[in-house]
Amino acid sequence: MTAELIKGSEIRNVILEELKADVQKLKAKHGIVPGLVTILVGENPASISYVTLKIKTAHELGFHEIQDSQPVDISESALLALIDKYNKDPKIHGILVQLPLPKHIGEKKVITAIDPDKDVDGFHPVNVGRLMIGGDEVLYPPCTPAGIQELLIRSGTATSGAEVVVVGRSNIVGKPIAVMMAQKAKGADSTVTIVHTRTKNLEFHCKRADILIVAAGVPNLVKPEWIKPGATVIDVGVNRVGVHPETKKPILKGDVDFDRAKEIAGKITPVPGGVGPMTIAMLMKNTVKSAWLHAEGK
Ligand code: NAD
Repeated sequence: MTAELIKGSEIRNVILEELKADVQKLKAKHGIVPGLVTILVGENPASISYVTLKIKTAHELGFHEIQDSQPVDISESALLALIDKYNKDPKIHGILVQLPLPKHIGEKKVITAIDPDKDVDGFHPVNVGRLMIGGDEVLYPPCTPAGIQELLIRSGTATSGAEVVVVGRSNIVGKPIAVMMAQKAKGADSTVTIVHTRTKNLEFHCKRADILIVAAGVPNLVKPEWIKPGATVIDVGVNRVGVHPETKKPILKGDVDFDRAKEIAGKITPVPGGVGPMTIAMLMKNTVKSAWLHAEGK
């Protein structure tokens, strides 16, 4: 059997088209466009490429978009003042500070300085709390987990009552996706297990999964024999395993042994082209939502 591919790149394009129409509606009704600022500190090449892609997508959707690049030695207080400026700017509905930050800047201080109503990354403790409560309380779900859930919904994967196993317990992927899948909601209602580096028998848990979500950052961690035949496998991992000799571009692999796993799984996401493209689409979705909420005084 060869698994059905869940193509994040194609699903992303559909979502961006829907958002374009929503942006037009917002403009017609309230005369405003969503505003997104990305703050980049320093010149980390990976961060530059992420921010560039985010701004390019925002531009294509007709947002008011600002890329605010700051030198690597900007002081913490200057960065906090900058965030405060955007918190007060009515044209800005989403503020994103690209992580990681240089060592002299406290990440926690920066995240909590962002107005939770403009925290389109969903990392502010207030938004983490809202996610935990669930339902209408959720304002901005974190982008990668939201993208995973959207892939499950749009690929027609049954989640209600499904055994979901999440490999990884980070604050940006593992923990939030586990919470989201357990909520009483569309694309959720699952029975969730989280496994991590201290789990005694990873294989045992993975084998039970109807939906296996892997976010460990370890290439080929999940072996094909760990996959229940017909299961849906969402591979979040992005691992640089080498450099292409001709293009000099990095060779990327997920956390799952894709070539062999696709012969056992029912559905599977490729790396690249699976979860990755969804993250930016969800960032845009959160920004459009924020613009509507601000426009309608909610
Ligand atoms: P992280 O390093 O913060 O967390 C990894 C988690 O995996 C940890 O909780 C750890 O306990 C667990 N883990 C690691 N090795 C393990 C092992 N051998 N057995 C069991 N558990 C293990 O990473 P993260 O930020 O959650 O990211 C995970 C992966 O997802 C990375 O490859 C990252 O690049 C990728 N990622 C992709 C996107 C995207 O948009 N596609 C977004 C975020 C992260």
